[in-house]
Amino acid sequence: MIVREIEAKTILSKSQVFDYALNAYVGCRHACRYCYARFMKRFTGHAEPWGAFVDIKVNAPDLLAREIMRKKPGRVWVSGVCDAYQNLESKYRVTRRCLEILVAHRWPVTVQTKSPLVLRDMDILEGAADAEVGLTVTTADEGVRRIFEPGAPPIAKRVAALAALHAAGVPTFVMVAPLLPGAEGLAGLLAGKVDRALIDRYNYHYADRTYREHGMDRAMREEFYLEKGEQLRDAFEQAGIPCQNLR
Ligand code: SF4
Repeated sequence: MIVREIEAKTILSKSQVFDYALNAYVGCRHACRYCYARFMKRFTGHAEPWGAFVDIKVNAPDLLAREIMRKKPGRVWVSGVCDAYQNLESKYRVTRRCLEILVAHRWPVTVQTKSPLVLRDMDILEGAADAEVGLTVTTADEGVRRIFEPGAPPIAKRVAALAALHAAGVPTFVMVAPLLPGAEGLAGLLAGKVDRALIDRYNYHYADRTYREHGMDRAMREEFYLEKGEQLRDAFEQAGIPCQNLR
């Protein structure tokens, strides 16, 4: 694993999902096989495999403190092309310091992660005027999780994190993207632990080889997504979880 501390030039970037995205890291140790963010390699000159490098933008909080004074307030997605709570965040705390600044200025924040490390920042999130936290959970099958998300935390820890956030009154959502084999068990796992669910196709074909190597070709197809996505949406709704299937 190659880890470098770097100085970024800017930290709030325009986003097609929310008003801004804030990525305090380049690269992601979670190394998800399907990760679309690997396109970042092209822009940052990394030749290493995705998941084998992380750059830490150590000046991210300083940049944010300046940019927040001159940019129009808007919702900030933490993050978009990295996981803000990958394990290096335990040491570097750049996400935490950025979150403190955003919340202090009352900017709305949407955190999306696969890591229970977000619980460390519960003190900030509980006091936020408008903050929500989503955990991405793509399957209820830990064996499938290990194949597609080899460096990410186990499903049970993500579900427990959602439960803790929800119990503390922090708005929560689960993001099921991509919809992997074994996702049908998620509604039962998440009942009473999230405010809403989102399902998305998220089909960038980066993981095609992984699907094939593990005999899961069927799950790459459109029909699989349409069938399982609708079934899962119904299951969430029956479990009392409002669900949007983004298709
Ligand atoms: S956690 Fe997100 S950013 Fe990190 S490798 Fe997985 S999909 Fe990519």
